[in-house]
Amino acid sequence: FPVENIRNFSIVAHVDHGKSTLADRLLELTGTIDKTENNKQVLDKLQVERERGITVKAQTASLFYNCEGKQYLLNLIDTPGHVDFSYEVSRSLSACQGVLLVVDANEGIQAQTVANFFLAFEAQLSVIPVINKIDLKNADPERVENQIEKVFDIPSDECIKISAKLGTNVESVLQAVIERIPPPKVHRKNPLRALVFDSTFDQYRGVIANVALFDGVVSKGDKIVSAHTQKTYEVNEVGVLNPNEQPTHKLYAGQVGYLIAGMKNVIEAQIGDTLYLHKQPVEPLPGFKSAKPMVFAGMYPVDQSEYNNLKSAIEKLTLNDSSVTVHRDSSLALGAGWRLGFLGLLHMEVFNQRLEQEYNASVILTTPTVPYKAVLSSSKLIKARRAVQKNMIFIDQNRVMLKYLFPLNEIVVDFYDSLKSLSSGYASFDYEDAGYQTAELVKMDILLNGNTVEELVTVVHKDKAHSIGKAICERLKDSLPRQLFEIAIQAAIGSKIIARETLPIFKNIFQYGGDITRKMKLLKRQAEGKKKLRKIGNVEVPKDAFIKVLKTR
Ligand code: GDP
Ligand code: MG
Repeated sequence: FPVENIRNFSIVAHVDHGKSTLADRLLELTGTIDKTENNKQVLDKLQVERERGITVKAQTASLFYNCEGKQYLLNLIDTPGHVDFSYEVSRSLSACQGVLLVVDANEGIQAQTVANFFLAFEAQLSVIPVINKIDLKNADPERVENQIEKVFDIPSDECIKISAKLGTNVESVLQAVIERIPPPKVHRKNPLRALVFDSTFDQYRGVIANVALFDGVVSKGDKIVSAHTQKTYEVNEVGVLNPNEQPTHKLYAGQVGYLIAGMKNVIEAQIGDTLYLHKQPVEPLPGFKSAKPMVFAGMYPVDQSEYNNLKSAIEKLTLNDSSVTVHRDSSLALGAGWRLGFLGLLHMEVFNQRLEQEYNASVILTTPTVPYKAVLSSSKLIKARRAVQKNMIFIDQNRVMLKYLFPLNEIVVDFYDSLKSLSSGYASFDYEDAGYQTAELVKMDILLNGNTVEELVTVVHKDKAHSIGKAICERLKDSLPRQLFEIAIQAAIGSKIIARETLPIFKNIFQYGGDITRKMKLLKRQAEGKKKLRKIGNVEVPKDAFIKVLKTR
């Protein structure tokens, strides 16, 4: 395939603006998949993606397209939109020369539209603005064109107006990809230089590395070296993603595809690594700056005998999602486990759900916390969240972009939901790291009949300790089953109790008359529940109770 007939591009957008739907139409138009009614977010392969209707993992597909007698190879990378997954986006962009920036014709520019535009702009990629959903009754493509011109300085006549759902004008998107995005700048005569920009794990074949070839050629049977580990491997298989793996004899510079070479684990398949031929060593490519976790939580097997299984599940999943950091940890109450770092709360939930669905694991997650540096010694929504305003830009008459400095722990848990409900769904939100600041923080314990619950220890701001402590106690009271004695649920800072709830005694169900089958059902449910119980002092706490308290702090 001549390099000048190759285009590598990505689709970026705010959540729900229609990336995956546009990808479906592009796959259909190029005959990559058959046109049927059932093509809905074809590239969202994971169960968690289908259930939540969001993309969490970037996917690659190679499309063949004929235009004016020439055949083109278009490598499309579909990316997630949610703020927690912007790391996936920035990695995908390193394999591209251009992006389709999809904007909803009704909602207009949103927070991740801006964030994704700047990721593409900084990577010096061509940006093709695509205004989607023009079929909607409330669509106002002219207003969105003006926003794009004002905020991104892209002339409004460069915008392509489409309906990805109905397929309207989608062909002109392919035309623009060919005309406006340059072919990759590569050298096929030079020795091989391949960037590993993503990888997945297959139970039977080991690591499947997604690679972008900057120089040279790679074939089955070649001896290659990982610049990162300096280990040598023999290439077992190369191919393109169509969007499923399709083996080919070779991959050439300019192409995006996959490579299998007997790599077995995370350490061997570093994302950002450069692969080269054993005979012809080269300078490695720049790679990626590593993802910076923002939210930390402990993860433990429900049953310690599951430790090794969970360990291997976590290893495989982190191979698939390299932005998660993993450190061994242990807890008095929960035994051996790990401390995991995530990019945000949705990321944490998705990781947990994938462990359960794809690896059948059953885990306990502790309260998420954000990193603090401790020095040992003795208006809105916005004000309550201890924020400082930095600037304000009007996007048009009825939309404004605000920048604030926030303490991270104020935004990781429920800020996004509060913002959405306060603004009746109109506001959107994105964030980046602004460094550490000093603050008055205290460590808060939660006690059950005087015994500390390890899982619920948190660091909170002094002024908020009382209200947070009270909320946790109340929630714990609601989610704990009653037991044969009274339970005191307390929040404490050091030896000072700052909140208390009391869970009354459990009355044996046989004391009430009534239907025997109903009683038997209750007893059976209790027995099942027991399997997942953990004892703190004399108090039995089901796993469910932890999760209920942790999720909605
Ligand atoms: P993504 O999060 O950017 O990948 O967005 P999706 O492709 O999953 O689309 C989000 C929702 O918008 C889905 O319910 C789609 O059916 C819908 N959608 C996408 N494109 C269009 C369009 O052109 N018109 C209309 N009316 N709905 C669309
Ligand atoms: Mg999607």
